[in-house]
This record gives sequence, structure tokens and C-alpha cells, in this order.
Amino acid sequence: TEACLKAADGAKALNAFVHPTHDLALEQAKAADARIKDGEAPAMCGVPLGIKDLFCTRHVPSQAASGILEGFKPEYESTVTRQLFESGAVMLGKLNMDEFAMGSSNETSVYGDVVNPWKVDDAQRTPGGSSGGSAAAVAADLCLAATGTDTGGSIRQPAAFTGTVGLKPTYGRCSRWGIVAFASSLDQAGPMTKTVRDAAIMLQAMAGHDPKDSTSADIPVPDFESMLTGDIRGKTIGIPKEYHMEGMPAEIEALWTDGRKMLQDAGAKIVDISLPHTKYALPAYYVIAPAEASSNLARYDGVRFGHRAKLAQGDGITEMYEKTRAEGFGDEVKRRVMVGTYVLSAGFYDAYYNRARKVRTLIKKDFEDVFAQGVDAILTPATPSAAFPLGAMTDADPVQMYLNDVFTVTVNLAGLPGIAVPAGLDGQGLPLGLQLIGRPWEEGDLLNTAYALE
Ligand code: GLN
Repeated sequence: TEACLKAADGAKALNAFVHPTHDLALEQAKAADARIKDGEAPAMCGVPLGIKDLFCTRHVPSQAASGILEGFKPEYESTVTRQLFESGAVMLGKLNMDEFAMGSSNETSVYGDVVNPWKVDDAQRTPGGSSGGSAAAVAADLCLAATGTDTGGSIRQPAAFTGTVGLKPTYGRCSRWGIVAFASSLDQAGPMTKTVRDAAIMLQAMAGHDPKDSTSADIPVPDFESMLTGDIRGKTIGIPKEYHMEGMPAEIEALWTDGRKMLQDAGAKIVDISLPHTKYALPAYYVIAPAEASSNLARYDGVRFGHRAKLAQGDGITEMYEKTRAEGFGDEVKRRVMVGTYVLSAGFYDAYYNRARKVRTLIKKDFEDVFAQGVDAILTPATPSAAFPLGAMTDADPVQMYLNDVFTVTVNLAGLPGIAVPAGLDGQGLPLGLQLIGRPWEEGDLLNTAYALE
């Protein structure tokens, strides 16, 4: 813990930790030492972690990287962080992220950009988003692992951009209770780690049924680590033809072919598959996610949480809401709230929101069909490119940024588990990742396939 705190102090330029919790970390580390001395050492005992700012942590600032939650210190602990602490984990501090987890580059944060520790030239690169602080902190060895959340790729894309491992569990595997909601039907917490084994151990501590989240599943959590045999003989791996996107860099295609060969050499059977509705996933996601966000973010009204604008003489409650929300939310969040409100409005509900929900069902069915044909896991690239320079995409049309999520959003729409594993470097020496998508509730199997690929 002391080594990590020192490393984090020396790496302020990355802007990963935004609310350090030194005293708490040392206190938790001492308690972990005592537990180990007593012969009681749960899996995460003494493991120093960074926690994404989206998790509510008791009496510690929890701002979701937003100005509107300025000064908010919850009176409660999210279920996932509570379980991690019960398993002996130590919290070094809260990690930077995109505001309300909306973004793919960690450039929408009220705390400013996070810098990717990977450097190959003069440019400062994005660590990806929204869990950019988590990915940068793990990659730069400022912590042993971090929590992330993934609504449309926010664990897997930053993992791919930083050469780390990121797992999005099956929807319902980890409780969402106490995690600031973005799009409730898509949000899932998961581990961001250096290795697949660490991901298995950390997921074990994070997962499980929670009566406080009605969408958390009452399904037993197996011993994920014991499932890491590396033996994938006889497994069937699907390669979806729709993921060969037009304009995809040759090195991403090559990486994908290498991954396919590696799994084949390990004894897996490789089959070509089709997920025909893939091309509708991004538009459906960018209707459903903002729709749910616009509803979830209605609670930030200047009364219940954080920031309230200074009012002028004669201002009433409407002006208070308007001024608070205008000042508190950043541009991307406002864009999502406007899009979400529009697609849910009476005149457009059927044309956009309802249609996107139907598309979502079709996307889910695509996956169910290939799993029914005997496919155990699906191999795809994690991202369409390596980490791009900070600022490179912010002036462009926001849709350019959304295109980054092309390989990841399908997994959230279908509620499936997905993992990004480091798979090599591009021509410039930047990390690239591959994604494996698994059957629902079979994270153990998925982790084992990732272990064979690692
Ligand atoms: N980049 C996607 C978005 O901006 C995904 C974010 C996430 O997974 N939290 O919505």
C-alpha cells in the first residue's frame, strides 16, 4: 500500500487519482495485516485498489467526475466496494473517469483528461474511457487493480488502450447498488487488472446476489480462479463476419488472425459465424443509453445532491433547477440528456426508443442463436484502433467518438460477459486488445479461454 501511494504521488501528471484516501488506505492495510496474522486471509486481503469515482464510497467524495456532484460524500457504501473491503481490499483513492461514464476517451471529466502512461512519441494519448483513470492507474502500477464499470465498453476499451485486462460480467452478476446510474439496463461493474488470474480473483469478491438490486441475479458464484486450467481443447470459438468492419486498420485484422491461430493451436475449434444485426448495435445503443440516462439524471436538481447554483433575487424553483443543471453538467452529459429526452418524447417514442428496444432483442437473439449452435465464445478485436492522441477526436463530430464503441456495445445490449485481453502492439508500439464474448453466467469459462490467449 505504501509503495502504491508513493507511486501515485509521483504520477500526478497522469491525473488518474482524483480523491486520494491515504489515511483510510493505511488504516485498511493495517487491518489487513492483522487479519493475515490471525490466520484469516480472504482473497483480496491487503490488495491496494483504485476505485472508479462512479462508486459511492462512504464519507469519501463520489462525484462521477461531474461538477453537479461537487462535495457529495455518500453516507453509504456501494455493495461492490463493501464486498471488496470485506474481502480485505485496500482503497488508495477514487479514480478519474468520463463524466457520468459518458465517453470513450476520459476527456469529459470535470477533473480534466487522464493521460495514458503508454508513450511512443511526443503526443499524450487517451487511456480510453470511461474507466480511463482505472486503466491508467493499473497500467502505470499505481495500484494492483481497479474497479471499472461498463455500459457500452467502458471497461474493455480502456483495458485495450492500456495493455491491461478488463472484464465486463454478465448483466446482474455484480450488484449495481450504490453505483451512480448511467443506463441501468446496461451498466455492470467489473475488475480491471494486470492479468486474467487477477480478474478471476477480483470478480469473485465483487460478484453475488444483492437483495438491494432487483436486477442482481440469485445465481451461485463459482470459484473462478480454480477454473483457470488453460485447457480449451474441444471448445468452439466463433469469428463473426460482421466484425470485419470497413476501413479497419490492417494491423487490427492481423491481430485478430493471430488470436484465432493461438486459440486453434491450443486445441479450440474455430468456426465462422454470423451476427446479422451487428450494424444496428451502435445506433440502438446511442438511443437506449441516452434515454435511460436522461431519466436517471433527472435526480440532480440542486436539492438532493452536491452543487446548487447561486440564485438571483426573484429566482424561483424553475430557475434554480435550470441554473444548477446548466452549470453542473458538462457538454456531453447535456447532449445525452437532450437526445434521451427527445427519443422518449410522445411524438418520437415509437420511432426511436421502441424501435431501438426491438433491435436490441434481435441483437440478443443473434447471440442466442450462435450459442445454441454450440459456440462457446466469440473472438473479436476490442477496439477499431490503438489509443489516439488526447484532443484528436474532441473537435470532431461526436459520432466519430461513438464509433469507437463499435465492437463493445453489442455485449451490453445482449447482457453478456465480455473480456478484453492484451494481444500485442501496433506498428508504433501501442497496445492492442482482443475481446472474447461468452455465454451468460459463464465467466469462469470465458476467463479460462482468455487465460489461454493471454
Ligand atoms: N463510450 C460509451 C458511451 O459513451 C460507453 C460508456 C460506458 O461504457 N460507460 O456511452
